[in-house]
Amino acid sequence: MPSVLSESTLSARCYRTMCDLLPGGVNSPVRAFKGLGIDPVIVAKGMGDQIWDLDDRCYIDFCLSWGALLLGHVHPKVVHAVQKQLAKGSSFGISTEIEGLLAKKVVEKIPSIERVRFVSSGTEATMTALRLARGCTGRSHLVKFSGNYHGHSDAFLVEAGSGLFGVPMSAGIPPGLLQYTINLPYNDSQALERLFSDPEFRHKIAAVIIEPVAANMGVVPPEPGFLELLRELTTAHGALLIFDEVVTGFRVAAAGAQQLYGVMPDLTCLGKVVGGGLPAAAVGGRRDLMELLAPLGPVYQAGTLSGNPLAMAAGLATLEELDDLSIYRELERKAELLCNPVRDKLLERNVDACLQRVGSMFTLFFGTQQVRNGREAQLVDKQLFASCYRHLLSVGIYPPPAQHEAWFISPAHTDDHLCYVRDALLAWVEQLPSRRDSS
Ligand SMILES: *Cc1c(COP(=O)(O)O)cnc(C)c1O
Repeated sequence: MPSVLSESTLSARCYRTMCDLLPGGVNSPVRAFKGLGIDPVIVAKGMGDQIWDLDDRCYIDFCLSWGALLLGHVHPKVVHAVQKQLAKGSSFGISTEIEGLLAKKVVEKIPSIERVRFVSSGTEATMTALRLARGCTGRSHLVKFSGNYHGHSDAFLVEAGSGLFGVPMSAGIPPGLLQYTINLPYNDSQALERLFSDPEFRHKIAAVIIEPVAANMGVVPPEPGFLELLRELTTAHGALLIFDEVVTGFRVAAAGAQQLYGVMPDLTCLGKVVGGGLPAAAVGGRRDLMELLAPLGPVYQAGTLSGNPLAMAAGLATLEELDDLSIYRELERKAELLCNPVRDKLLERNVDACLQRVGSMFTLFFGTQQVRNGREAQLVDKQLFASCYRHLLSVGIYPPPAQHEAWFISPAHTDDHLCYVRDALLAWVEQLPSRRDSS
Protein backbone atom coordinates (compact mmCIF):
# COMPACT_ATOMS: atom_id res chain seq x y z
CA MET A 1 0.00 0.00 0.00
CA PRO A 2 1.45 3.42 -0.85
CA SER A 3 2.54 5.40 2.16
CA VAL A 4 0.09 8.21 1.37
CA LEU A 5 -2.68 5.93 2.58
CA SER A 6 -1.13 5.39 5.99
CA GLU A 7 -3.25 6.51 8.93
CA SER A 8 -0.52 7.32 11.40
CA THR A 9 1.26 10.07 9.52
CA LEU A 10 1.53 13.65 10.77
CA SER A 11 -0.53 14.69 7.73
CA ALA A 12 -3.35 12.28 8.60
CA ARG A 13 -3.36 13.38 12.24
CA CYS A 14 -3.34 17.04 11.28
CA TYR A 15 -6.23 16.46 8.89
CA ARG A 16 -8.27 14.69 11.61
CA THR A 17 -7.68 17.61 13.97
CA MET A 18 -8.75 20.11 11.33
CA CYS A 19 -11.90 18.10 10.61
CA ASP A 20 -12.99 18.92 14.16
CA LEU A 21 -12.47 22.61 13.53
CA LEU A 22 -13.12 23.41 9.87
CA PRO A 23 -16.09 22.08 7.86
CA GLY A 24 -14.66 19.09 6.03
CA GLY A 25 -11.24 19.97 7.42
CA VAL A 26 -10.68 22.55 4.67
CA ASN A 27 -11.26 26.14 3.60
CA SER A 28 -12.07 25.30 -0.02
CA PRO A 29 -13.87 22.05 -0.91
CA VAL A 30 -11.58 20.56 -3.57
CA ARG A 31 -8.74 20.36 -1.04
CA ALA A 32 -10.60 17.59 0.80
CA PHE A 33 -9.79 15.01 -1.94
CA LYS A 34 -13.45 13.95 -2.10
CA GLY A 35 -13.90 10.85 -4.24
CA LEU A 36 -10.20 10.03 -4.34
CA GLY A 37 -10.31 7.50 -1.53
CA ILE A 38 -7.32 8.95 0.32
CA ASP A 39 -6.62 11.63 2.88
CA PRO A 40 -5.68 15.02 1.50
CA VAL A 41 -2.08 16.17 1.40
CA ILE A 42 -1.27 18.71 4.11
CA VAL A 43 1.50 20.83 2.70
CA ALA A 44 4.37 22.18 4.79
CA LYS A 45 6.46 24.06 2.25
CA GLY A 46 7.22 24.58 -1.41
CA MET A 47 10.25 25.41 -3.50
CA GLY A 48 10.36 25.87 -7.26
CA ASP A 49 8.33 23.04 -8.79
CA GLN A 50 8.11 20.95 -5.61
CA ILE A 51 6.11 20.77 -2.41
CA TRP A 52 6.70 18.81 0.81
CA ASP A 53 3.97 17.52 3.07
CA LEU A 54 4.02 17.44 6.89
CA ASP A 55 5.76 14.05 6.75
CA ASP A 56 8.47 15.46 4.50
CA ARG A 57 7.29 13.53 1.45
CA CYS A 58 8.14 15.44 -1.71
CA TYR A 59 5.91 15.91 -4.75
CA ILE A 60 6.36 17.60 -8.11
CA ASP A 61 3.53 20.14 -8.03
CA PHE A 62 1.19 20.66 -10.98
CA CYS A 63 -1.49 22.48 -9.00
CA LEU A 64 0.76 25.46 -8.20
CA SER A 65 -1.98 27.19 -6.26
CA TRP A 66 -4.41 26.53 -9.12
CA GLY A 67 -2.12 28.29 -11.56
CA ALA A 68 -1.55 31.40 -9.45
CA LEU A 69 2.13 30.52 -9.03
CA LEU A 70 3.07 30.80 -12.66
CA LEU A 71 6.73 31.19 -11.63
CA GLY A 72 6.64 28.34 -9.10
CA HIS A 73 7.02 28.37 -5.31
CA VAL A 74 9.08 31.02 -3.49
CA HIS A 75 10.45 32.65 -6.63
CA PRO A 76 13.33 34.84 -5.33
CA LYS A 77 12.10 38.06 -7.00
CA VAL A 78 8.59 37.61 -5.62
CA VAL A 79 9.83 36.77 -2.13
CA HIS A 80 12.14 39.77 -2.13
CA ALA A 81 9.41 42.15 -3.32
CA VAL A 82 6.96 40.96 -0.67
CA GLN A 83 9.55 41.08 2.14
CA LYS A 84 10.54 44.59 1.14
CA GLN A 85 6.93 45.73 1.24
CA LEU A 86 6.14 43.84 4.45
CA ALA A 87 8.89 45.71 6.26
CA LYS A 88 7.16 48.98 5.30
CA GLY A 89 3.64 47.94 6.21
CA SER A 90 1.22 45.22 5.13
CA SER A 91 -2.01 47.19 4.79
CA PHE A 92 -3.17 50.74 5.23
CA GLY A 93 -6.63 51.14 3.78
CA ILE A 94 -5.04 54.18 2.15
CA SER A 95 -3.81 54.32 -1.44
CA THR A 96 -0.23 53.22 -2.06
CA GLU A 97 2.05 53.89 -5.03
CA ILE A 98 2.42 50.20 -5.86
CA GLU A 99 -1.27 49.92 -6.84
CA GLY A 100 -0.56 52.33 -9.66
CA LEU A 101 2.57 50.42 -10.68
CA LEU A 102 0.71 47.13 -10.99
CA ALA A 103 -2.19 48.86 -12.76
CA LYS A 104 0.29 50.33 -15.27
CA LYS A 105 1.73 46.86 -15.92
CA VAL A 106 -1.73 45.37 -16.48
CA VAL A 107 -2.78 48.19 -18.82
CA GLU A 108 0.50 47.91 -20.77
CA LYS A 109 0.17 44.16 -21.19
CA ILE A 110 -3.53 43.88 -22.06
CA PRO A 111 -4.66 46.24 -24.86
CA SER A 112 -8.40 45.94 -24.08
CA ILE A 113 -7.80 47.27 -20.55
CA GLU A 114 -7.60 51.06 -20.06
CA ARG A 115 -8.66 51.15 -16.42
CA VAL A 116 -8.44 48.50 -13.76
CA ARG A 117 -9.95 47.93 -10.30
CA PHE A 118 -8.13 45.56 -7.96
CA VAL A 119 -10.04 43.23 -5.67
CA SER A 120 -8.96 40.26 -3.55
CA SER A 121 -10.40 37.21 -5.34
CA GLY A 122 -11.60 36.04 -8.71
CA THR A 123 -15.07 35.73 -7.23
CA GLU A 124 -15.10 39.44 -6.47
CA ALA A 125 -13.79 40.25 -9.94
CA THR A 126 -16.62 38.45 -11.76
CA MET A 127 -19.20 39.79 -9.29
CA THR A 128 -18.00 43.31 -9.98
CA ALA A 129 -17.91 42.79 -13.75
CA LEU A 130 -21.51 41.57 -13.70
CA ARG A 131 -22.74 44.51 -11.62
CA LEU A 132 -20.87 46.87 -13.91
CA ALA A 133 -22.47 45.29 -16.98
CA ARG A 134 -25.91 45.56 -15.42
CA GLY A 135 -25.29 49.13 -14.33
CA CYS A 136 -24.02 50.10 -17.75
CA THR A 137 -26.76 48.49 -19.84
CA GLY A 138 -29.69 48.82 -17.45
CA ARG A 139 -30.45 45.17 -18.23
CA SER A 140 -30.60 42.19 -15.86
CA HIS A 141 -29.91 38.95 -17.70
CA LEU A 142 -26.59 37.17 -17.67
CA VAL A 143 -25.56 34.52 -20.16
CA LYS A 144 -22.98 31.95 -19.09
CA PHE A 145 -21.80 28.61 -20.38
CA SER A 146 -22.30 25.26 -18.70
CA GLY A 147 -19.08 23.89 -17.31
CA ASN A 148 -17.46 27.32 -16.95
CA TYR A 149 -16.65 28.50 -13.43
CA HIS A 150 -16.73 32.13 -12.38
CA GLY A 151 -16.30 31.95 -8.63
CA HIS A 152 -18.89 31.26 -5.97
CA SER A 153 -21.31 34.21 -6.05
CA ASP A 154 -25.03 33.45 -6.49
CA ALA A 155 -25.54 34.58 -10.07
CA PHE A 156 -22.87 32.22 -11.40
CA LEU A 157 -23.74 29.10 -9.39
CA VAL A 158 -26.44 28.10 -11.80
CA GLU A 159 -26.14 25.10 -14.06
CA ALA A 160 -28.14 24.13 -17.13
CA GLY A 161 -31.60 22.82 -16.38
CA SER A 162 -34.15 21.40 -18.78
CA GLY A 163 -35.03 24.76 -20.36
CA LEU A 164 -33.06 27.94 -20.96
CA PHE A 165 -32.95 28.68 -17.25
CA GLY A 166 -30.92 26.70 -14.85
CA VAL A 167 -30.91 24.95 -11.55
CA PRO A 168 -28.90 26.16 -8.56
CA MET A 169 -25.58 24.40 -7.98
CA SER A 170 -25.78 25.16 -4.28
CA ALA A 171 -28.34 25.35 -1.53
CA GLY A 172 -29.03 28.90 -0.39
CA ILE A 173 -29.60 30.54 -3.75
CA PRO A 174 -32.96 32.33 -3.90
CA PRO A 175 -35.12 30.84 -6.70
CA GLY A 176 -35.93 34.36 -7.91
CA LEU A 177 -32.32 34.85 -8.94
CA LEU A 178 -32.40 31.90 -11.33
CA GLN A 179 -34.55 33.82 -13.81
CA TYR A 180 -31.64 36.12 -14.60
CA THR A 181 -29.00 33.54 -15.50
CA ILE A 182 -29.23 31.83 -18.88
CA ASN A 183 -27.02 28.79 -19.44
CA LEU A 184 -25.83 27.80 -22.88
CA PRO A 185 -23.65 24.88 -23.95
CA TYR A 186 -19.99 25.84 -24.47
CA ASN A 187 -18.82 25.84 -28.08
CA ASP A 188 -22.38 25.71 -29.43
CA SER A 189 -22.68 28.48 -32.04
CA GLN A 190 -26.24 27.55 -32.96
CA ALA A 191 -27.52 27.85 -29.40
CA LEU A 192 -25.86 31.26 -29.21
CA GLU A 193 -27.45 32.42 -32.46
CA ARG A 194 -30.82 31.09 -31.37
CA LEU A 195 -30.67 33.04 -28.11
CA PHE A 196 -29.70 36.29 -29.79
CA SER A 197 -32.48 35.94 -32.35
CA ASP A 198 -35.08 35.27 -29.63
CA PRO A 199 -37.22 38.44 -29.45
CA GLU A 200 -38.04 37.68 -25.81
CA PHE A 201 -34.44 37.75 -24.60
CA ARG A 202 -32.08 39.46 -26.98
CA HIS A 203 -32.76 42.93 -25.58
CA LYS A 204 -32.56 41.82 -21.96
CA ILE A 205 -29.01 40.52 -21.94
CA ALA A 206 -26.62 42.70 -19.93
CA ALA A 207 -23.60 40.49 -20.50
CA VAL A 208 -22.22 37.23 -21.70
CA ILE A 209 -19.42 35.86 -19.54
CA ILE A 210 -17.09 33.13 -20.73
CA GLU A 211 -13.84 31.41 -19.92
CA PRO A 212 -12.23 32.00 -23.34
CA VAL A 213 -10.35 28.77 -22.75
CA ALA A 214 -12.31 26.67 -20.29
CA ALA A 215 -10.16 25.41 -17.44
CA ASN A 216 -12.73 24.43 -14.85
CA MET A 217 -14.31 21.47 -16.65
CA GLY A 218 -10.80 20.41 -17.49
CA VAL A 219 -9.06 22.23 -20.33
CA VAL A 220 -11.47 22.78 -23.23
CA PRO A 221 -10.38 25.17 -25.99
CA PRO A 222 -12.90 27.33 -27.83
CA GLU A 223 -13.76 25.96 -31.26
CA PRO A 224 -12.68 28.09 -34.23
CA GLY A 225 -15.06 31.00 -34.75
CA PHE A 226 -16.91 30.60 -31.44
CA LEU A 227 -15.37 33.58 -29.63
CA GLU A 228 -15.62 35.66 -32.82
CA LEU A 229 -19.33 34.90 -33.09
CA LEU A 230 -19.79 35.79 -29.44
CA ARG A 231 -18.10 39.14 -30.05
CA GLU A 232 -20.24 39.83 -33.09
CA LEU A 233 -23.57 38.97 -31.44
CA THR A 234 -22.93 40.83 -28.19
CA THR A 235 -21.89 43.94 -30.10
CA ALA A 236 -24.92 43.71 -32.40
CA HIS A 237 -27.34 43.42 -29.49
CA GLY A 238 -25.81 45.85 -27.02
CA ALA A 239 -24.66 43.27 -24.47
CA LEU A 240 -21.21 43.39 -22.90
CA LEU A 241 -18.73 40.60 -23.47
CA ILE A 242 -16.86 39.61 -20.31
CA PHE A 243 -13.82 37.38 -20.58
CA ASP A 244 -13.12 35.57 -17.35
CA GLU A 245 -9.35 35.30 -17.71
CA VAL A 246 -8.75 34.51 -14.04
CA VAL A 247 -6.85 31.39 -15.17
CA THR A 248 -5.78 32.31 -18.71
CA GLY A 249 -4.63 35.89 -18.04
CA PHE A 250 -0.84 36.25 -18.38
CA ARG A 251 -0.66 32.46 -18.86
CA VAL A 252 -1.73 31.35 -22.33
CA ALA A 253 -0.10 34.50 -23.74
CA ALA A 254 1.16 37.79 -22.30
CA ALA A 255 -2.26 39.36 -22.87
CA GLY A 256 -4.16 36.14 -22.18
CA ALA A 257 -6.64 34.27 -24.34
CA GLN A 258 -7.82 37.52 -25.96
CA GLN A 259 -4.40 37.79 -27.55
CA LEU A 260 -4.20 34.10 -28.44
CA TYR A 261 -7.55 34.18 -30.28
CA GLY A 262 -7.58 37.82 -31.34
CA VAL A 263 -10.97 38.66 -29.81
CA MET A 264 -11.33 41.75 -27.60
CA PRO A 265 -13.82 41.66 -24.72
CA ASP A 266 -15.42 44.72 -23.13
CA LEU A 267 -14.42 43.64 -19.63
CA THR A 268 -11.73 41.24 -18.45
CA CYS A 269 -11.58 39.47 -15.09
CA LEU A 270 -8.11 38.65 -13.82
CA GLY A 271 -7.00 36.68 -10.78
CA LYS A 272 -4.55 33.94 -9.87
CA VAL A 273 -1.35 35.01 -11.73
CA VAL A 274 -2.06 38.74 -11.22
CA GLY A 275 -1.56 38.26 -7.46
CA GLY A 276 1.60 36.18 -7.83
CA GLY A 277 0.41 33.79 -5.12
CA LEU A 278 -1.10 36.41 -2.82
CA PRO A 279 -4.78 37.37 -2.77
CA ALA A 280 -5.29 39.80 -5.64
CA ALA A 281 -7.62 39.84 -8.61
CA ALA A 282 -8.94 42.54 -10.90
CA VAL A 283 -11.56 43.66 -13.32
CA GLY A 284 -10.48 45.87 -16.20
CA GLY A 285 -11.74 47.25 -19.46
CA ARG A 286 -12.54 50.31 -21.50
CA ARG A 287 -12.32 53.62 -19.70
CA ASP A 288 -15.96 54.60 -20.30
CA LEU A 289 -17.17 51.37 -18.73
CA MET A 290 -14.75 51.26 -15.83
CA GLU A 291 -15.46 54.85 -14.87
CA LEU A 292 -19.03 53.84 -14.04
CA LEU A 293 -17.55 52.39 -10.84
CA ALA A 294 -17.69 54.31 -7.56
CA PRO A 295 -16.42 56.92 -6.75
CA LEU A 296 -16.81 58.25 -10.34
CA GLY A 297 -19.99 56.45 -11.27
CA PRO A 298 -23.16 54.89 -9.86
CA VAL A 299 -21.94 51.25 -9.65
CA TYR A 300 -20.84 50.57 -6.09
CA GLN A 301 -17.84 48.41 -5.27
CA ALA A 302 -15.32 48.51 -2.43
CA GLY A 303 -12.87 46.44 -0.38
CA THR A 304 -10.88 46.80 2.85
CA LEU A 305 -7.95 44.79 1.46
CA SER A 306 -8.41 45.73 -2.22
CA GLY A 307 -5.08 46.65 -3.75
CA ASN A 308 -3.32 45.26 -0.70
CA PRO A 309 0.35 46.31 -0.95
CA LEU A 310 1.76 42.82 -0.26
CA ALA A 311 -0.42 41.32 -2.97
CA MET A 312 0.42 44.18 -5.35
CA ALA A 313 4.14 43.59 -4.71
CA ALA A 314 3.86 39.86 -5.47
CA GLY A 315 1.79 40.56 -8.58
CA LEU A 316 4.12 43.26 -9.84
CA ALA A 317 7.24 41.12 -9.34
CA THR A 318 5.53 38.27 -11.19
CA LEU A 319 4.35 40.40 -14.13
CA GLU A 320 7.78 42.01 -14.40
CA GLU A 321 9.33 38.56 -14.80
CA LEU A 322 6.75 37.89 -17.51
CA ASP A 323 7.96 40.94 -19.47
CA ASP A 324 10.51 38.49 -20.83
CA LEU A 325 8.30 36.98 -23.52
CA SER A 326 10.69 34.09 -24.08
CA ILE A 327 9.04 32.57 -20.97
CA TYR A 328 5.98 31.79 -23.09
CA ARG A 329 8.08 29.90 -25.64
CA GLU A 330 9.78 28.06 -22.81
CA LEU A 331 6.40 27.14 -21.30
CA GLU A 332 5.26 25.79 -24.66
CA ARG A 333 8.45 23.74 -25.01
CA LYS A 334 8.09 22.29 -21.51
CA ALA A 335 4.40 21.55 -22.06
CA GLU A 336 5.23 19.72 -25.31
CA LEU A 337 8.00 17.79 -23.61
CA LEU A 338 5.55 16.41 -21.07
CA CYS A 339 2.34 16.21 -23.08
CA ASN A 340 3.15 15.26 -26.66
CA PRO A 341 4.48 11.77 -25.94
CA VAL A 342 1.53 11.08 -23.63
CA ARG A 343 -0.97 12.30 -26.23
CA ASP A 344 0.73 10.19 -28.93
CA LYS A 345 0.69 7.12 -26.71
CA LEU A 346 -3.02 7.58 -25.98
CA LEU A 347 -3.77 7.67 -29.69
CA GLU A 348 -1.42 4.81 -30.53
CA ARG A 349 -2.89 2.53 -27.86
CA ASN A 350 -6.45 3.64 -28.68
CA VAL A 351 -7.51 3.88 -25.04
CA ASP A 352 -10.52 5.67 -23.65
CA ALA A 353 -8.70 8.78 -22.47
CA CYS A 354 -7.48 12.00 -24.03
CA LEU A 355 -5.17 14.88 -23.29
CA GLN A 356 -6.36 18.43 -24.06
CA ARG A 357 -3.89 21.28 -23.78
CA VAL A 358 -3.70 25.00 -24.42
CA GLY A 359 -0.24 26.42 -23.73
CA SER A 360 0.93 25.57 -20.23
CA MET A 361 -2.34 24.07 -19.03
CA PHE A 362 -3.74 20.66 -19.81
CA THR A 363 -6.12 17.96 -18.63
CA LEU A 364 -5.88 14.22 -18.98
CA PHE A 365 -9.51 13.09 -19.30
CA PHE A 366 -10.31 9.47 -18.52
CA GLY A 367 -13.18 7.57 -20.08
CA THR A 368 -13.66 9.81 -23.10
CA GLN A 369 -12.08 10.68 -26.43
CA GLN A 370 -12.86 14.39 -26.59
CA VAL A 371 -14.43 17.06 -24.39
CA ARG A 372 -15.95 20.12 -26.10
CA ASN A 373 -18.54 21.20 -23.53
CA GLY A 374 -19.92 20.66 -20.05
CA ARG A 375 -22.12 17.75 -21.07
CA GLU A 376 -19.22 15.83 -22.59
CA ALA A 377 -17.14 16.67 -19.53
CA GLN A 378 -19.66 14.75 -17.42
CA LEU A 379 -18.93 11.54 -19.33
CA VAL A 380 -15.52 11.08 -17.71
CA ASP A 381 -14.56 8.01 -15.70
CA LYS A 382 -13.95 9.33 -12.18
CA GLN A 383 -12.95 5.92 -10.82
CA LEU A 384 -10.16 5.66 -13.34
CA PHE A 385 -9.09 9.22 -12.59
CA ALA A 386 -9.00 8.44 -8.87
CA SER A 387 -6.89 5.34 -9.32
CA CYS A 388 -4.46 7.18 -11.60
CA TYR A 389 -4.34 10.01 -9.07
CA ARG A 390 -3.48 7.71 -6.16
CA HIS A 391 -0.75 6.15 -8.25
CA LEU A 392 0.80 9.47 -9.27
CA LEU A 393 0.71 10.74 -5.70
CA SER A 394 2.42 7.56 -4.50
CA VAL A 395 5.30 8.17 -6.90
CA GLY A 396 5.73 11.81 -5.86
CA ILE A 397 3.57 13.70 -8.33
CA TYR A 398 0.86 16.14 -7.20
CA PRO A 399 -1.68 16.91 -9.96
CA PRO A 400 -4.75 19.00 -9.09
CA PRO A 401 -6.91 16.59 -7.10
CA ALA A 402 -10.02 16.48 -9.32
CA GLN A 403 -10.74 15.27 -12.84
CA HIS A 404 -12.25 18.56 -14.04
CA GLU A 405 -9.18 20.66 -13.32
CA ALA A 406 -6.12 21.79 -15.22
CA TRP A 407 -2.52 20.78 -14.62
CA PHE A 408 -0.31 23.87 -14.66
CA ILE A 409 3.23 23.95 -16.03
CA SER A 410 5.71 26.54 -14.82
CA PRO A 411 9.14 27.60 -16.02
CA ALA A 412 10.17 26.25 -12.60
CA HIS A 413 9.44 22.69 -13.76
CA THR A 414 12.82 21.19 -14.60
CA ASP A 415 13.14 19.09 -17.74
CA ASP A 416 14.22 16.18 -15.53
CA HIS A 417 11.04 16.38 -13.50
CA LEU A 418 8.88 16.74 -16.58
CA CYS A 419 10.49 13.63 -18.12
CA TYR A 420 9.95 11.73 -14.87
CA VAL A 421 6.25 12.64 -14.92
CA ARG A 422 5.98 11.90 -18.64
CA ASP A 423 7.40 8.41 -18.04
CA ALA A 424 5.04 7.82 -15.11
CA LEU A 425 2.07 8.78 -17.31
CA LEU A 426 3.31 6.67 -20.23
CA ALA A 427 3.63 3.65 -17.95
CA TRP A 428 0.14 4.27 -16.62
CA VAL A 429 -1.36 4.55 -20.10
CA GLU A 430 0.47 1.39 -21.16
CA GLN A 431 -1.57 -0.74 -18.74
CA LEU A 432 -4.97 0.72 -19.72
CA PRO A 433 -7.15 -1.59 -21.84
CA SER A 434 -7.32 -0.54 -25.46
CA ARG A 435 -10.75 0.23 -26.91
CA ARG A 436 -10.35 -2.54 -29.49
CA ASP A 437 -10.05 -5.11 -26.69
CA SER A 438 -13.19 -3.97 -24.96
CA SER A 439 -15.46 -3.90 -28.00
C1 LIG B 1 -10.41 30.47 -9.84
C2 LIG B 1 -11.40 31.06 -10.74
C3 LIG B 1 -12.32 32.03 -10.32
C4 LIG B 1 -12.51 32.38 -8.87
O1 LIG B 1 -11.40 32.93 -8.30
P1 LIG B 1 -11.24 32.88 -6.69
O2 LIG B 1 -10.02 33.70 -6.45
O3 LIG B 1 -11.11 31.44 -6.34
O4 LIG B 1 -12.47 33.47 -6.13
C5 LIG B 1 -13.11 32.64 -11.27
N1 LIG B 1 -13.02 32.32 -12.56
C6 LIG B 1 -12.17 31.39 -13.01
C7 LIG B 1 -12.09 31.11 -14.47
C8 LIG B 1 -11.34 30.71 -12.11
O5 LIG B 1 -10.54 29.74 -12.54
